[in-house]
Amino acid sequence: MITKLLIANRGEIACRVIRTARQLGISTVAVYSDADVNALHVSMADEAVRIGPAPSKDSYLQADRILQAAKQLGVNAIHPGYGFLSENAAFAEACEDAGIRFIGPGAAAIRAMGSKSAAKHIMEQAGVPLVPGYHGDDQSPKTLKQHADNMGYPVLLKAAAGGGGKGMRQVWSEQEFSHALDAAKREAMASFGDDIMLVEKYLTAPRHVEIQVFCDTHGNGVYLFERDCSVQRRHQKIIEEAPAPGMTDALRKQMGEAALKAAQAIDYVGAGTVEFLLDEDGRFYFMEMNTRLQVEHPVTEKISGEDLVDWQIQVANGLPLPKTQDELRLTGHAFEARLYAEDPDHDFLPATGTLRLLQPPQTSTHVRVDTGVIQGDEVSVYYDPMIAKLIVWDTDRDRALQRLLAALRDYHVAGVTTNLEFLYNVAASRPFQQAELVTTFIEKHHDMLFSPAIDEDQTQRLALAALLILLNRQQARQPANPEVPPSPWSLPLAWRANYVHKEQLTLSLQDTLHTVDVLHSGSTEQPGQWTLHIGDNVVQVSGHIEAHTLHARLDDYQQRINWSQDSHRLTLFTATGACHVEHHQPDLGDMDDAATDSDFAAPMNGTMVDVLVTPGTPVTKGTPLLVMEAMKMEHSIVAPADGTVVEFFFQPGDLVDGGARLLEFSRDE
Ligand code: ADP
Repeated sequence: MITKLLIANRGEIACRVIRTARQLGISTVAVYSDADVNALHVSMADEAVRIGPAPSKDSYLQADRILQAAKQLGVNAIHPGYGFLSENAAFAEACEDAGIRFIGPGAAAIRAMGSKSAAKHIMEQAGVPLVPGYHGDDQSPKTLKQHADNMGYPVLLKAAAGGGGKGMRQVWSEQEFSHALDAAKREAMASFGDDIMLVEKYLTAPRHVEIQVFCDTHGNGVYLFERDCSVQRRHQKIIEEAPAPGMTDALRKQMGEAALKAAQAIDYVGAGTVEFLLDEDGRFYFMEMNTRLQVEHPVTEKISGEDLVDWQIQVANGLPLPKTQDELRLTGHAFEARLYAEDPDHDFLPATGTLRLLQPPQTSTHVRVDTGVIQGDEVSVYYDPMIAKLIVWDTDRDRALQRLLAALRDYHVAGVTTNLEFLYNVAASRPFQQAELVTTFIEKHHDMLFSPAIDEDQTQRLALAALLILLNRQQARQPANPEVPPSPWSLPLAWRANYVHKEQLTLSLQDTLHTVDVLHSGSTEQPGQWTLHIGDNVVQVSGHIEAHTLHARLDDYQQRINWSQDSHRLTLFTATGACHVEHHQPDLGDMDDAATDSDFAAPMNGTMVDVLVTPGTPVTKGTPLLVMEAMKMEHSIVAPADGTVVEFFFQPGDLVDGGARLLEFSRDE
């Protein structure tokens, strides 16, 4: 019986495993690196042990140290999660040798599936359909190319040891082959220390459909239906769903049985996933088998009503599977969206930073959030930049998709660049709504996903309402001197006694500038009312903001819409996609060489947030000197040249009028 479980992992999966273990009354041990001393998984576990410095090779990949901790603390099972040591046969063996159960398949099964080419050999013998291609031992470039030529282009080169999309190259013609092979081999060698390659026919519009299998030590095996994981960037999944849209009972059975055949061919035990490519004609091809619990297992849990970690523990305890194939029921539809710290506008490159704001949506039987971080945590360079998995479920796909959109609108993150809006744009797009899923979904619908079509007139009005309400709110927040009672004279923005004030507001909407005449038509008692002159149209605007909901009144029409803000950018979540709004004003950070100290003028009313350097200490050009805030948006002022700050004229917390001189700066000769 497993009574004490060590989780050889971190982040959301460590938290996920701890949750089930706790429900089962099993005590838990976390391991952590120096970067994770205060991490959520550490605080959730009953005990936690430091295993090394931040880089994973010095901590989460240190099999010996983890085993030593397990022995010292009297642990009798280790859950490896996914990634790190989860598919490391030597680690599974070492656990068994130490008398500690490894929650996963035996070392032989991990080894058999560890190489994509060896796995294909085994599947070929078991009669499981394969993606056509070459997975032989002769690795001479000539042989590889000959196979590609015979197969016809495009082909896909894949590292046999690959994972995470590394060591993979599409080759579209004979001429590109050698160059692509060199590049794929280099990448594979750098990532896996092994550059054995497979050549596969590149299917141009397949879907990625995978089967969740489970086997016990009594010879029983079941499949818990399928997941469609076609929405991918850089060949890696970002939205998964179950069941796969359009799946028939007959095809499900055929794929499920093929997957079980694959698992049984290697005497598999525990949770595993058999990945297939599915073509338009309903033909499917084995790609690889992952011998662990997958990131996207929650969608299977939602449609099956089963807890897969509980199943893993039961199987590791030597019990038979909790259900037979006939007892398993598929109910409803689930999506999982992976929230990553990454920048979709820069090829989805990982981002880092502090999660200044992290507010997940309300969880319920319909909405689940699996995460390993809380507000204030750091997304570091050391680990996978996934912040959370948002999982939604409902009785059918359309209803579940509505839930997904609503939950994404209710997710608020600031401080780190994320793919949140991109996920929203995918979920809101027509092809996704119509379940036109292919692995090239993002490339195919690039323009629609990166700049979704919005109702410009309406969004512009809502954006103006949001900006004006925020500006107004900031104005009203507090007087410059707390001892002085609020009065019109302490309001830092446009307000004039005795006459109606008119000004121009420039904003950018999805990067297009719009200038609008705004008449402040409110009174001291009711300040938030404006008349907008947009071209020939006149619109009366008022409203208020409650947390992340804007309530706008535009003439005789009212609308509420979710918004969020990070730094100086606002986002409005419209029905067709996320729309970016910026209040266009002089850029405080953009000072050129010609700047003199008289240029250190606050270009707008705002608050001094922080001074970042000590007067008298030399600074180099570009060093941030102070941070100002306006409309809850921060702006830094940087040194225009090497030099020294002589004096700051404001301190943190001071309100600053537009045009006021902020500091005196002396340039180096
Ligand atoms: P990794 O193990 O590196 O994640 P996989 O073999 O699982 O790589 O493939 C990742 C993704 O690459 C698949 O989900 C699919 O979108 C794409 N892919 C893999 N093989 C092919 C192929 N032969 N044709 C078209 N796309 C493929």
